[in-house]
Amino acid sequence: MKEISPDQVYLLFNRSKRNTENVIKAAPIGICITTPEGRFEMANPAYCEFYGYREEDLLDKHFTLVVPEDSRAVLSALHDDFMQGNESQELRQEWDVVTHNGETRTIIAEAARIEGEDGKPRKVTFIIDITQRKQLEERLKQANERLDHIAHHDELTELLNRRAGLQRMGEEIQRYERYGTPFSIAMYDLDNFKAVNDTYGHAAGDVVLQEITTLVSKALRGTDLHIRLGGEEFMIIMPGVNAEEAYLGMERAREAVANAVITEHQLTVTLSSGITSYVEGSDTRLLDRADKAMYQAKQEGRNRVVIASPSM
Ligand code: GH3
Ligand code: MG
Ligand code: MG
Repeated sequence: MKEISPDQVYLLFNRSKRNTENVIKAAPIGICITTPEGRFEMANPAYCEFYGYREEDLLDKHFTLVVPEDSRAVLSALHDDFMQGNESQELRQEWDVVTHNGETRTIIAEAARIEGEDGKPRKVTFIIDITQRKQLEERLKQANERLDHIAHHDELTELLNRRAGLQRMGEEIQRYERYGTPFSIAMYDLDNFKAVNDTYGHAAGDVVLQEITTLVSKALRGTDLHIRLGGEEFMIIMPGVNAEEAYLGMERAREAVANAVITEHQLTVTLSSGITSYVEGSDTRLLDRADKAMYQAKQEGRNRVVIASPSM
């Protein structure tokens, strides 16, 4: 075998080292090396470009320079743990980071522990920018939430729509069947509402619907569900409430509405309401019974609340 002189060994070693350095420099992903104390020892051009720093600005600085203030302590502790670990564990995690111009971006960082020329450990970190993907995911999530909201709510009043309301009623019935939890429903309809539309126009009528439903919602408990069944007809599901308690709640709402002067036209509008509590096996007749009680309230002169009688 041909002998290799120490000079040649040195030459080959340097060439190999240069090659490695060139590969790291040319790498399209950000790579940095940090010391056991967490200070930058090397940052490749992709890393520097991503963060908007020159390499000389980063060298010897603590790596938490590029992370948001509120996660610095956590990341420092993780870095220390990683440096002290025995096996050459790899860490792959998603982080928010801050660039030189203050922009927050999201990266996936994968780290490996290597031995430095001085025999001490080093952390090599590879970073991949996933900011765009994150933003896309966030926009998609918001769009889905918006769609979900539209599917379950009424556009004019922002109340639950009929479909969502009936579904929630079904859930209350199931709760009753399983745990015996009582609930009541109240239906209400605005009195002589046609006259409002005829006198002030449909747009003014719409504002009346918005203002009245806001007043009613305010008079209700946070757990009550307010639903627009259609037109100027509404339903309230009152979980855990018997008919007498529901009556008191609805009376509060009726009074609040009757005492309010609403819209730019300074109108007074009233409502009539029918109430029934759920009794076993009455699912199909629940709305019917509330409707009949409401009809009776209209018959008796409007602006009142009536509890459905057992015969209804
Ligand atoms: P009653 O006291 O018997 O309930 O009388 P009413 O005039 O309120 O009852 P009626 O059912 O005759 O009229 C309801 C009116 O509600 C007719 C309809 O044009 C109006 N209406 C239904 N939906 C809307 C809406 O979304 N906006 C507006 N502005 N009006 C609506
Ligand atoms: Mg009406
Ligand atoms: Mg009506």
